[in-house]
Amino acid sequence: MEILKQRILQDGKCPAEGVLIVDSFINHQLDTQLLMEIGVEFARRFAYSRANKILTIEASGIAPAVMTGYCMGIPVIFAKKAKPCTMDKALQSQVHSFTKNIDYNIVVNSEYIKPGDRILCIDDFLAYGSAAESLIDIVDQSGATLVGMGFVIEKSFQEGGDKLRKRGIHVESLARIEELSNKCIKFCD
Ligand code: 5GP
Repeated sequence: MEILKQRILQDGKCPAEGVLIVDSFINHQLDTQLLMEIGVEFARRFAYSRANKILTIEASGIAPAVMTGYCMGIPVIFAKKAKPCTMDKALQSQVHSFTKNIDYNIVVNSEYIKPGDRILCIDDFLAYGSAAESLIDIVDQSGATLVGMGFVIEKSFQEGGDKLRKRGIHVESLARIEELSNKCIKFCD
């Protein structure tokens, strides 16, 4: 997605080798026009999929997921990082964050994903794939069908994308980065 790549080149920051900061338009301050275009693009790429729900993880997946859900006319569920005491029946999975080097659980109320649902997962970044794997785990536990996964930015020099594609999952990434340092941001295509 050309407009996204141009914005990453213009406003993305790389404070450490392999880490991209997009706080000024995706992760902290939200550029609503760009996010709507992201939603339109995901909706176009997954139009065939007959997805009836979108699943993401709080907090940074919510904005692109909501825009996509709006464009596709379907609801968005976000996995929570803390289990509210009011949630009885939770689907749970563990995520390892390589950037923070911690493990955490994500939970989704099992009321909202049922067998028969067709789930499209959307997230901001795909890096090593741990967050994506735990979303897949939640979908599997629920008995629903995973129809595809969309990422705003994929760091293709980390192994998440390869792992998901080898499993036969339809993965769409709007900007794929093959090289990332404070001197150079290079895209795959
Ligand atoms: P993974 O589980 O694929 O290793 O990492 C995915 C999650 O880690 C994303 O949801 C995102 O929040 C975070 N993440 C991974 N790499 C980066 C990065 O370079 N920049 C930012 N801002 N977040 C990242």
